[in-house]
Amino acid sequence: MKINLISDTVTQPSAGMLDAMMNAKVGDDVFKNDPSVNAFEEEVARYFGMEAALFFPSGTMTNQTAIKLHTQPGEQLICDKYAHIYNYEGGGVSFNSGVSCKLVDGNRGMMTAEQVVEAINPPDFYHSPLTSLVCIENTTNKGGGACWDFNELKEIKKVCDENGLKYHLDGARLWNALVAKNENPKDYGNLFDSISVCFSKGLGCPVGSVLIGNEKLISDALRVRKMLGGGMRQSGFLAAAGSYALKNNIGRLSEDHKKAQEIGSVLGKLEFIKKVEFIETNIIIFELDESQMFSAVFLSKLEENDISIIGMGQGKLRIVTHLDYTAQMHKHFLKILQKIG
Ligand SMILES: *Cc1c(COP(=O)(O)O)cnc(C)c1O
Repeated sequence: MKINLISDTVTQPSAGMLDAMMNAKVGDDVFKNDPSVNAFEEEVARYFGMEAALFFPSGTMTNQTAIKLHTQPGEQLICDKYAHIYNYEGGGVSFNSGVSCKLVDGNRGMMTAEQVVEAINPPDFYHSPLTSLVCIENTTNKGGGACWDFNELKEIKKVCDENGLKYHLDGARLWNALVAKNENPKDYGNLFDSISVCFSKGLGCPVGSVLIGNEKLISDALRVRKMLGGGMRQSGFLAAAGSYALKNNIGRLSEDHKKAQEIGSVLGKLEFIKKVEFIETNIIIFELDESQMFSAVFLSKLEENDISIIGMGQGKLRIVTHLDYTAQMHKHFLKILQKIG
């Protein structure tokens, strides 16, 4: 039995999803003539109570498009030091938009409204870049799937309004936060100028992310998507997978969260584990006590048992639970972990 826990992106489309994809009515979406894409975009916009949405091939492209639309070259955005847009988008922020990032030293990828205020450059001080955008990530990836306190997000929104800043949410795993904290997606739609969500992570789709905002933003996003080379033709096959996931795969995320908790509590009892970070959703980040076992040894012991997890650098290891990680695999994995200990 092969168990792959390196990411929640490793899932294969389920039989039900494939069926929905194969039965999709499609057209040429570059001409906005694909009925499945049009319906899907409307569904996602409605889900967040926002005006409009646009389907993209990746979450990197939705984030990059939002940043392009909210900034001018030379300006600066504010984000946490762990942010995906800063660490894992190939430097696209500077390449595509010509903006710099002011990094905030937050907690597990989350900053406070006070820290945001401190990170804003005074607009009349022309020596420093003009601050124009605040980017949030929920759940945080490098922060171990942490969920924001919604009240803090509201406080940051106030700071944005008072300082004329735009407010973007990288919600690649927002679904996990909505389920873990029992939140209403429309509250997020109310708060942010733009939201990016991924369907290719916890929701189990093969491809696809959606950018959501008001009519004006999304109509401008169409041209930026074109510039980035992201226009797709009969993409209704992919949108149908997204529609399927929206109906069928959100509620079940709580199962992934429960399994993550159980893995965390087994890890916590092992001698050679130094620290397991607080687990809120489907991501487990932990460190070994290298005087007892090297990470490389631990990883190879797992590999011998056909189990893959991933290193994050700085001695941290990561496990991500997902749709294709079954109850049977879970039982087996916990047994192997205890055996290694
Ligand atoms: C995965 C991810 C993205 C987008 O990744 P793609 O692979 O380009 O779809 C963006 N933000 C976060 C936090 C992510 O985890």
